[in-house]
Amino acid sequence: MRTTTPKRSEAIGEEAVAVVRAPAVPSKMMAAVLYGSEDLRLEQIDVPHLAADEVLLRVRLALTDGTDLKVWQRGYHAKMIQPPAVFGHEVVGEVAAVGKRVDARWRMGLRVIAANSAPCLRCFHCRRGQENLCEDLLFNNGAYAEYMRIPGRIVMENMLEVPHSVDDGSAALVEPLACVLRGIHEMEVRTGDTAVVIGCGPIGLKYVRMLSRRGVRVIALARRVAPLEVARRMGAIATINVTQVRDVVAAVRNLTEDDRGADAVVEAAGNPATWKQALAMVRRGGVVNFFSGLSSGTRVEIEPAAIHYSEIKLISPFHHTPRFIREALEAIRRGDILAHDFVTEEIRLEDLPHAFEKMKSRSGEIKLAVRP
Ligand SMILES: [Zn+2]
Repeated sequence: MRTTTPKRSEAIGEEAVAVVRAPAVPSKMMAAVLYGSEDLRLEQIDVPHLAADEVLLRVRLALTDGTDLKVWQRGYHAKMIQPPAVFGHEVVGEVAAVGKRVDARWRMGLRVIAANSAPCLRCFHCRRGQENLCEDLLFNNGAYAEYMRIPGRIVMENMLEVPHSVDDGSAALVEPLACVLRGIHEMEVRTGDTAVVIGCGPIGLKYVRMLSRRGVRVIALARRVAPLEVARRMGAIATINVTQVRDVVAAVRNLTEDDRGADAVVEAAGNPATWKQALAMVRRGGVVNFFSGLSSGTRVEIEPAAIHYSEIKLISPFHHTPRFIREALEAIRRGDILAHDFVTEEIRLEDLPHAFEKMKSRSGEIKLAVRP
């Protein structure tokens, strides 16, 4: 594929021969471009140009998620997206072109997942194994398109070949699952523990599933019947529809030994009220995982004495690290988690703007598979 003998054009300019492109790759593609708050348009744009260390994926499938919904509503993301921009980040694709310095193992047509970020591996946090807090975390977006550019750092650190046995939808779950697995790791739960999961959106359900797989007894909370049914299928031993009980905290405590409270609580509903509830549901010496990211400026009132004298551990895990990207793909390969449990519908790229409208009214409960 690559030649050691320089071609004539190489003398003219590096860019001219920086890319080995499969003949089938066109110059234009369809992509969903975000212009601002709730303003997403389908457009013909240029297929991204590659630097020598970059890879072009032909997108096989992209999944929508809660972060994308937030970005669509706000019209931007301080760290990740400044409009107009392509977006979407849970993706499985196949290698369609490679820069000339890309490792030969990334051959044309290979099916891969690429995470939405990669750390620098050099900064203070990276050196301490906290790559999720990397001071120079490189983000990548653009999965809602026919083709997607993968920056060199992600190719090196966070792009993985998908095993044959794994379907496209499940492979595309790697990124959010990596965040969840890292969260569970930080919780230090044990087999036989009881954990409450507040919120049964795609993230909450992943917690239900993966905690159950580890022998944790999960109590799932949500506002609607359908996600609670899914939570049961995912392994929850009990579910509570929070709209049907007067005192949610008491209802949870009633399900624990001596009304002691849960060993662990995962807050995955994303509002200040459920942050407070989480603190009231945990037992003395237990752990609360504030997983959802509330928008900056949000305040939650807490009683420090209730935390201190009960020695409650508070964690708020953010993002993923290369280790958990790999663990997530391995969990998916084992069949611990399957897309069809989470993905509610498959749509075409053209239908995406309308689909976001629909997701808005369901507060991110829906996860869609987008096929370009
Ligand atoms: Zn770093």
